[in-house]
Amino acid sequence: MKTELWQRRLCRAEHLEALWPCAAAPLRFFRAITTLQRQVHQALSGVVAPQLEALLPFVAPLLSLVRREGPGPLAEEATRRQGWPEAAWAALLAARWTGASGDDEGSPDWLFSQALLQPYAMLITAEGAAAATGCCPRCGRPPLVSVLSEERSSDGRVRTLLCSLCGAQWRFPRAVCPACGQQQPGRLPRFCIEEVPWMGVEGCEDCGCYIKSVDLSREPDADPVADELGALPLDVFAAEQGFHKLALNLAGL
Ligand SMILES: [Zn+2]
Ligand SMILES: [Zn+2]
Repeated sequence: MKTELWQRRLCRAEHLEALWPCAAAPLRFFRAITTLQRQVHQALSGVVAPQLEALLPFVAPLLSLVRREGPGPLAEEATRRQGWPEAAWAALLAARWTGASGDDEGSPDWLFSQALLQPYAMLITAEGAAAATGCCPRCGRPPLVSVLSEERSSDGRVRTLLCSLCGAQWRFPRAVCPACGQQQPGRLPRFCIEEVPWMGVEGCEDCGCYIKSVDLSREPDADPVADELGALPLDVFAAEQGFHKLALNLAGL
């Protein structure tokens, strides 16, 4: 993946920023984070078995871009944390990496860690078994987005899930909730809106979760991570229907 993945994602986010003015601010923030993540990925690519400490030099640039491009409260938090000692950041990253802290998705702790751990996770998690589980077979985190694509050898579209942390993709049945395993089609509503015909909301009436989907057969140029983040009206719609999101994106949505 790698070099082209970052470039493609940045270009796509820039394209969406022009297409969707209502999402311009979060997409600009996303581009700034993605640019930093590309630097992290490039810096660590040549390192054998990189340790979490290798992320510490990127904390200051992260705080600086959050102050510049982040939403108000997060930017203030970045200013407050400027003097934090390295040991505090090391402890925060370690706790997030091992999953010891959690349940505060969307908080500043979560965002700062997620921004740095995503490119790290891409490099250090090993390929796992392609199990049909709702959690990532590489790192165990929940999926960020559902990706539909044509597969020449089969007659329908194939669904893969894309991990919210390490970016791995794995095959998953079309009509199963990744959060709770519900399989009854009547309990798994699908929604889409006219403005974004290649995207949809996949909900579950059992556990109340939803995940957005990107259909690459309808929009081959889509980057699932960028498109997922930019399609804000779908999040508003899903929330109005009473669903909550399975995993948040870098805009905290
Ligand atoms: Zn993963
Ligand atoms: Zn469910």
